[in-house]
Amino acid sequence: MNKLAKRAWFAMVLAGALLLGMAVVIVRYMVSAPDWVTFQSSPHVYSNGVMNSGVITDRSGTVVLNATSGRSYAESESVRKAMLHLLGDREGNITPFLLNEYGAELVGFDRLNGTYSTTDESAVMKLTISADVQKAAYAALDGRKGTVGVYNYKTGEILCAVSSPSFDPDNVPDIAGNPDTYDGAYYSRFLYAKYAPGSVFKVLTAAAALEEIDDISARTFTCTGSIEIAGETLVCNGVHGTVTFEQALAQSCNCAFAEIAGELGANTLTKYARRSGVAEQLHFDGVNTAAGSFDLSKAGKYETAWAAIGQYNDQINPCSYMVFMGAIANGGKAAEPYFVEKITRGNSSKYEASTEMTGRMIEKDTAAALAEMMHYAVENVYGTWNFAGLDACAKSGTAEVGEGKQPNAVFTGFVRNSQYPLAFIVVVENGGSGSAVCTPIISRVLSTCIVAMDSD
Ligand SMILES: [Zn+2]
Repeated sequence: MNKLAKRAWFAMVLAGALLLGMAVVIVRYMVSAPDWVTFQSSPHVYSNGVMNSGVITDRSGTVVLNATSGRSYAESESVRKAMLHLLGDREGNITPFLLNEYGAELVGFDRLNGTYSTTDESAVMKLTISADVQKAAYAALDGRKGTVGVYNYKTGEILCAVSSPSFDPDNVPDIAGNPDTYDGAYYSRFLYAKYAPGSVFKVLTAAAALEEIDDISARTFTCTGSIEIAGETLVCNGVHGTVTFEQALAQSCNCAFAEIAGELGANTLTKYARRSGVAEQLHFDGVNTAAGSFDLSKAGKYETAWAAIGQYNDQINPCSYMVFMGAIANGGKAAEPYFVEKITRGNSSKYEASTEMTGRMIEKDTAAALAEMMHYAVENVYGTWNFAGLDACAKSGTAEVGEGKQPNAVFTGFVRNSQYPLAFIVVVENGGSGSAVCTPIISRVLSTCIVAMDSD
């Protein structure tokens, strides 16, 4: 090969390498540009590590965060506290997951034009959350630790996702110096906590019984206040005498449900827990909720009975269990929950939520039968007056959390009125008795939900 041919060949190789390199850059740009633009140290988007674009409002249009220059929160202190776990704090102790997940839409970046000029209007993210409901729920928790969640099981809109304790981001207290008062103040209990469910788990055991035990609805159980299982004594919360299946759920009779657990067995209970998805993680709007657990792999008959009534090593995440309630309300499948309704910039839409349904969590007939049983409990035990005049179905739980500690109060259920298709959950840590502690909270929260939805 002469010198000239060698040079030509070399030039061809260089040109080829250049083209290949350009192709790689273009592909990476198309794929990753939105992430590069919203990267924490990008000077166009962040100042002092805070994104400098976008306004977040609640469902009524109330501004809950203005992040166009720095970060300013709602005018009302109570709204600032109630909304904090959804928006993040200035110090970075609470992750602003909505800003992170929708960074590209909020910043107004597109692949051809880059970031928009600063003269453009800011993007507005409208949440499904109601600041008024958040405020009411936080006030109703009244300084106690816990969470309140409410969502529309037909559409998926989350109206309430409050976590307590919280704090005012405009007046940050001495959190490290008051570990008891501010225990877990940096995380959303609604999204990331796991709790022993206590008797709210009887709903799931009842679902298995309805499908697996033929005559269950015609059966009666006798409760003398305790029951012997495999040589150990399981104690009830009262002496219920002879009760039907429906009464056993409404009065939360441990003896009846321990007997049912014995008939179902560990494998069947595990199958239903799995199918219902109550222990599954949920993924939406940049959130991965905490997974629950239902594990009977090392359980004997006694432990299985405890697990069937929501103790042993059962754990639920409040958000997941709320969705399970939605599935019972909605014939076996519920809408998947979400926080972000839409993102707009001026007249252009940057994001719009759509309703997605869960898989089948429960059979349709079983769901209908459970709803009736839970409604019976409202009429005969919890009191219809506690549900803002709505057609409600509910189950309480009083979950033991260890020697010398007050139990956690848990309360969950749903509303059947077609204009207010809401599922809810309340947890008050170390609150005491489930229904007594939680019904005043849910009463106040549902009343506020009605007002919020009527003014949509
Ligand atoms: Zn009993």
